[in-house]
Amino acid sequence: MGDGNGPVLVLGGTAEGFDLAQRLVGEGVRVITSLAGRVTKPRKPAGEVRVGGFGGSKGLAEFLVGEGVLAVIDATHPFAAQISANAAVAARLVGVPLLRLERPPWRPQPGDRWTYFASVGEAAAFVSERGGRVFLTIGRGGLELFAGIERAWFLVRCVEPPTHLPPKSKLVLDRGPFTLAGEEGLIRKHRIDLLVTKESGGSQTEAKLTAARRLGVEVAVIRRPGPPTGVERVERTEEAVAWLRARLGAAA
Ligand code: NAP
Repeated sequence: MGDGNGPVLVLGGTAEGFDLAQRLVGEGVRVITSLAGRVTKPRKPAGEVRVGGFGGSKGLAEFLVGEGVLAVIDATHPFAAQISANAAVAARLVGVPLLRLERPPWRPQPGDRWTYFASVGEAAAFVSERGGRVFLTIGRGGLELFAGIERAWFLVRCVEPPTHLPPKSKLVLDRGPFTLAGEEGLIRKHRIDLLVTKESGGSQTEAKLTAARRLGVEVAVIRRPGPPTGVERVERTEEAVAWLRARLGAAA
């Protein structure tokens, strides 16, 4: 597929972005993966890597023109709404094709006790009312909304140290993939009765939901932010590769 012309920009920070870069580089495509720089020691994707914000949609548009980017694949996390919105604006502005690669959300199965919330704030309000022993797995963003809750005890799991923690809490710094045995062990050990999670999807962090189902633990699921309108979307890496083939107009 690659012909030595401009690069393809992969907006990454996810397992999907990592896999896509590897696959495209393997097919001879020049890839630049962009990472936000939130994680201290990220896995280094194949191809070129740049780190840090672009400076909004305008900065991203300038980057696309300056680097002669042929196409953008936005493989960022389903909850990274700002960068996806910026990519939509920038790509439209400079006429570069954009594809959103977004993994499907998890779906409840028989035996699940899930309640959906429209935002982290709504889930926090529910926990504040409910109390209990809560396994909080929403990452660092939004933890401040739980910081004033005194009625509940929290097991908080993040990749990087958070700036806010609830008063009664234990912090675990860890990154997926997580095993079912490990998740069941944590839930049992800390006598968890509520799991709070984003509707992230993907296999790497799915075991906590299976563990919750098996142990009869309630789950508060925070819905994804709405995607930008007018952007083509696929769910799987292979579909993104096929889209790119069609755009670059060359056989792999
Ligand atoms: P966000 O709120 O959508 O983005 C905030 C700002 O961070 C953007 O405006 C942009 O700054 C910069 N940014 C974000 N992703 C970038 C990227 N891939 N390359 C360059 N700049 C980027 O994003 P977020 O929720 O903070 O997530 C940051 C990164 O972590 C994303 O790449 C995402 O894939 C990954 N991640 C997020 C979550 C989550 O739950 N949100 C979970 C796992 C991984 P400028 O405006 O200056 O360009």
